[in-house]
Amino acid sequence: MTTATINEQVVRDVVQEVLSQLRGAGAAGATAAPAVSAPPIGASSPITARPTSVPAAAAAGTPSQAASGRWGIFADVNEAVAAAKVAQGWLVEQTIATRAQVVQIIRDVVRSRIQELGQMELDETKIGRLDHKFDKLELIVSHVSGTEFLSSEAYSGDAGLTVVEHAPYGVLGVITPVTHVIPTMCCNALQMIAAGNSMVINPHPGGIQTAVYITRLWNQAIHEKLGVDNLICVMEKPTLETADAIFTHPDIAMLCVTGGAGVANAAMSSKKKAVVAGPGNPPVVVDETADIDRAAVKIIQGAAYDNNLLCVAEKQVFAVSSIFDQLMDAMSRHGGYRLTREQMDALGKTCFISKNGSNGGHLILNREVVGKDPEALGAMIGVSVPPGTQMLYGETGADHVLVQHEQMTTVIPLVRCGNVDEAIALAKTSEHGFGHTCIMHSMNVANLTKMGREMNTSLFFKNGATNEGEGFISYSIATPTGEGPTSPLTFTRVRRCIMIGHLRII
Ligand code: NAD
Repeated sequence: MTTATINEQVVRDVVQEVLSQLRGAGAAGATAAPAVSAPPIGASSPITARPTSVPAAAAAGTPSQAASGRWGIFADVNEAVAAAKVAQGWLVEQTIATRAQVVQIIRDVVRSRIQELGQMELDETKIGRLDHKFDKLELIVSHVSGTEFLSSEAYSGDAGLTVVEHAPYGVLGVITPVTHVIPTMCCNALQMIAAGNSMVINPHPGGIQTAVYITRLWNQAIHEKLGVDNLICVMEKPTLETADAIFTHPDIAMLCVTGGAGVANAAMSSKKKAVVAGPGNPPVVVDETADIDRAAVKIIQGAAYDNNLLCVAEKQVFAVSSIFDQLMDAMSRHGGYRLTREQMDALGKTCFISKNGSNGGHLILNREVVGKDPEALGAMIGVSVPPGTQMLYGETGADHVLVQHEQMTTVIPLVRCGNVDEAIALAKTSEHGFGHTCIMHSMNVANLTKMGREMNTSLFFKNGATNEGEGFISYSIATPTGEGPTSPLTFTRVRRCIMIGHLRII
């Protein structure tokens, strides 16, 4: 046994030990995961009423008043919100430097345990890839913005001086997905706390043990250095009822939900201000001017990342006929395994089933396929896939179930199109107005411009993969509500302080 395998085994044993202790403590309580259906929401969805007033910041409490020793873990929403309110009252009294310390502690806890946490999340959720779990955590702790992102603006002129500042909301209600348990919680916590808020999280039941474990670690570490508990609170038995209690609690000032159509629609119809990071079905268009080999490499790189769990990841390809066969061949050279049309049909029927388990009626995603690697997915339809394969792929029609629905697994359909206009039109239809993400491989600026305008998505990747690019990162891409990738400023109220006649010193 090599050192690497010994270490891997040790990490696995520790994770199993922690998971079984959590189970014994009754922290699991996992209920059946809500199914992802794919009714279109997004740009066409109505944006519901915003609150007319925001609850005042919590009365400042001392850390000792704050249900200390709970480490943010609660069964009752009222208790969680009360504890988070006291913690936020403390935070708002602190300096920005102290907030930055909290942010650093959150980063350090994750950075010091990347192997353990990545392994734990994979063991519990059983979806995705271990190497990419590590990569995601590394990216989050190094590239999600904290207090340095906060800013103030000033207007100085004949009328005086106006200062614009970005204030906290208070206690935020947060919903997180099973696809990225710690990445979403960590990203939300860094940004929300940098902005001066505390949070109550209703995680997906499918990752609850991991969510409870990281919450305990964060609160214990913050308490050890700063004496405050419960800045990050989590429901230990999350259900739709606890989600609803958070949505309607008078002391929750704002919501941030990350998930599929069901939760996105629920948050959009809530009376509270909501930042909604909803579902996507990102199409890729490849035209005749693209570097075809590069397009194949990048499509596979983005789609295979964490076995296609990401909402931004490439889900279906529309390629013009003059380069279609070339692209199909290139996919094989760069990690793809080609399926026949019949095999793509069989996989479509495996991936999407009706609520009663057959293939008719309203289709939902079969949770058994989500985040599975290509070998496991192939085995489900009796195909033996070579080890090391990154993605399964094959030609389908534009109305194929794998084109029209968000599969979140390691198969990608390619559709042959007459020309670029047809490809863009079909891509737009397949995105269903989510307004989330699209991708194009082209060297023709007119075509790229047309794609960007037609698709009208929050993210538009050109000539690259969806897991790369410049700019700050976020694991909540707020699509129907329009904020795009969240930042600390997303979780602040704009306040304006206006002095008339004085303080302009020039
Ligand atoms: P999911 O919709 O099944 O669950 C997401 C969360 O919402 C979970 O905590 C779940 O318990 C909760 N939930 C579901 N229905 C609810 C309802 N009616 N009321 C209250 N809470 C409810 O999704 P998932 O499988 O965990 O995550 C995958 C989905 O999330 C995909 O559709 C993906 O595109 C989307 N996603 C979007 C982003 C983004 O940034 N836009 C990021 C990650 C995932």
